[in-house]
Amino acid sequence: MSFAAPLRLRLDSEALIANWRAMASLSGNAQTGAAVKADAYGLGAREVVPRLWKAGCRDFFVAHWGEAEALADLIPTSSIAVLNGIAEQDVEAAIALGAAPVLNTPHQISLWKNANGRRCHVMLDSGINRLGIGPEQFSPKLFDRLDIDILLTHLASADEDVPQNAQQLTTFIAMSEGISAKRRSMANSAGIALGSDYHFDLTRPGLALYGGAAHLHLRTSIRQVVLPQARILQVRDVAAGSTVGYNATYTTQKRTTVATLAIGYADGYFRGFSNSGSICVNGTECLVLGRVSMDLITVDVSAAPEVAEGDWCDVNFDLRLASEWSGMSQYELLTALSDRADRRWI
Ligand SMILES: *Cc1c(COP(=O)(O)O)cnc(C)c1O
Repeated sequence: MSFAAPLRLRLDSEALIANWRAMASLSGNAQTGAAVKADAYGLGAREVVPRLWKAGCRDFFVAHWGEAEALADLIPTSSIAVLNGIAEQDVEAAIALGAAPVLNTPHQISLWKNANGRRCHVMLDSGINRLGIGPEQFSPKLFDRLDIDILLTHLASADEDVPQNAQQLTTFIAMSEGISAKRRSMANSAGIALGSDYHFDLTRPGLALYGGAAHLHLRTSIRQVVLPQARILQVRDVAAGSTVGYNATYTTQKRTTVATLAIGYADGYFRGFSNSGSICVNGTECLVLGRVSMDLITVDVSAAPEVAEGDWCDVNFDLRLASEWSGMSQYELLTALSDRADRRWI
């Protein structure tokens, strides 16, 4: 027997593909890859990757070797790059798998050379100071005898118009001169919006594919991919002057019809949505009242017509708005999405 969950995630295939195409079109002459780390930002890499492959994507970026292995029966492993690099204990299995490491340190480079590893990628750190070969570690000799496909760098502040972007651009160009690599790649989703100087040979969008408004300029071209729906478990009238939910953070001003829905912070509907999230109930926008609980929220449905126990409601999950309401980043909202929801690709 299998039970239907009172919570659904509808995932829009067409929107995903349209978002990738929009990113590809904004990338101009550059090729367009896809960041599918963290299980494609929580959407499910095994669902996302074949759809993007079919749309024409040929470069997929994961963080861990286990994530590359989990895709090995779906696409050629040579199309997968592992961003977190390589550790000694993984070298042999990595070579056997055939995905390419993004080498981030001189140590990783020597591991790869000593194992006679073939095609690889290299991350240069042009100013984020997080992962990659830094200017002080840099010597052209480091890259001798490496078969480098993609020379990468990563922007720290691509979602802001700040001088750091141009500084990183200059640093990357200077660092990459003299290194022989087939392709250069700098831009994540927001970086694509910074213009063609940032595109090089390959772009690496993630967030925008999944519906995130990574940059002001991308707001209009990106469609929502994740559409959560929760079922109403109870509807009740509450008298004026009553409090709703844990710690009584909301007090009704008048008699209020309260619906309780099967979604909570354990589903990734964070406590930041308390008294601020919005739910569409039979076509009417209704506000979350009081605290978000682990498995439940309470919603003011006084203005919505004919609300009944068992009805399904759309949880407003436009990522830009949801991020404002909850105080969480768009990335956190996606990667926290519940496993106990029924997921349906439409
Ligand atoms: C996650 C990641 C991306 C994608 O970034 P978005 O902001 O989600 O578009 C690109 N490059 C690297 C190295 C990453 O880690």
